[in-house]
Amino acid sequence: MKYNHNIYLQQVGLKKLGYAVGALDGLDGPNTRKSNAASLKARYGSTAKTKALDGYTPPPKPTAAARTCVFGKHGVKGGSSPSMSYFTPPWAMTFSWGGKVSRIGCNKVVALPMENAMKEILSTYGVAWVKKHGLDVYAGCYNPRKGRGGNAWSDHAWAAAFDFADGRKGNKLHDKWSASKEGRNGYAMPSKAVTIFRKHGFQVGFKTGTATRRDMMHVAYIDRS
Ligand SMILES: [Zn+2]
Repeated sequence: MKYNHNIYLQQVGLKKLGYAVGALDGLDGPNTRKSNAASLKARYGSTAKTKALDGYTPPPKPTAAARTCVFGKHGVKGGSSPSMSYFTPPWAMTFSWGGKVSRIGCNKVVALPMENAMKEILSTYGVAWVKKHGLDVYAGCYNPRKGRGGNAWSDHAWAAAFDFADGRKGNKLHDKWSASKEGRNGYAMPSKAVTIFRKHGFQVGFKTGTATRRDMMHVAYIDRS
């Protein structure tokens, strides 16, 4: 068996989720396969959608090297974009600037976990709840730009982050999350949705603790723990 960095990353992710994988050796061995199947079953209800270890790449740390390893090269304005996948949103969505969202495009590594997270939110809480919290308004994913106020590339440049709602819906970028703001349309991601997004590998906002979390409608496939 040959060392495979994707398998190494999967082992790291599985171990973090509490599964036994043996040594973190990057080898597609029986322990890793067994734990991967168990984790897919726990998260998605079945392993049918995936073969062997292909179904789940754990989210990378927010460094350029780790993100490039998992997502490929980030896009640049007027240049190449990351390798994309598309899925139909599980509930009716409109762009924050108007118009129907007929499909959601994102980095191919991120499509399955996002589709599954959204499906779970819908089946758990229903469409009225989704609308009440502004999750039916979409402000895009791929954007080849640097992060706000910094020189580092944004998760959006890898098409690995999704914005639900935007400023017009009251999502103020630098407002801190608080329980009292939760549930105001488009203002702060409800913690019930945060729980489901996190289960599927997403981080909501820019900090791990709810007290310091900002930009609460930004959902990225990133490990900020
Ligand atoms: Zn964002």
